[in-house]
Amino acid sequence: MSQPSGPAWCSRFPGSALTADLLPDFRDRTQAFISVMKNGHASVTVSATFRPPERAYLMHWCWMIAREGYDPREVPRMSGVDIQWDHSDAKSAAAQMASTYALKFRPSLTSRHTERRAIDMTIGWQGTLQLRDFDGKLHTIASPPRDGTNPELIAVGKTFGVIKLISDPPHWSDDGR
Ligand SMILES: [Zn+2]
Repeated sequence: MSQPSGPAWCSRFPGSALTADLLPDFRDRTQAFISVMKNGHASVTVSATFRPPERAYLMHWCWMIAREGYDPREVPRMSGVDIQWDHSDAKSAAAQMASTYALKFRPSLTSRHTERRAIDMTIGWQGTLQLRDFDGKLHTIASPPRDGTNPELIAVGKTFGVIKLISDPPHWSDDGR
C-alpha cells in the first residue's frame, strides 16, 4: 500500500557517513588519506559516504515537484519505494521533504555517492599542517585556506586517488565527480 509523500519519508533509506560503506579500494585509499591528515592534527568530520539510490530518488523528485514545478503525476516509480507523489497536498508535502533533507541544489538521481565512490568531509587545522602523501613524501602546508579547498591538500589527496570536486566544498571522490 502506497503512502503519500511528506517528511516521514526522509528518515527512510538513511545515508551513511561511514568510510566502511565505500567500495573497498576507494575505502582503503580514503581511510589512508584521512589517517595522514589526522596524524598532522587536522580535524576531519565525515558527513556522507554512501547514499542509497532510493534516497537519491526521493531527494530528486521532491525537489522537482517543490522547486521546479514538475507534475507529480509524471514522476516515474521506483521499485521498493511505494510513495504516492500525486495527492491533494502534493506540492507542500514535497517542499517539506526538501526542507527536511536541507536541499540547496537539485540532487542527482545517480552520483558517486550512490555508487559508494564519494565522501563529503569537513577538514580544518590550525597553523601549519604537516602530512605525508601516498609515496611517503612529507608536505608542509603553511598557507591558507586551512580547509579542504586548500590546493596543496588537494594535491596530497590526489596521490591517494582521493580527488576533489572544486565546486562542492566537502565533496571528494575517486574521479573528482
Ligand atoms: Zn558529496
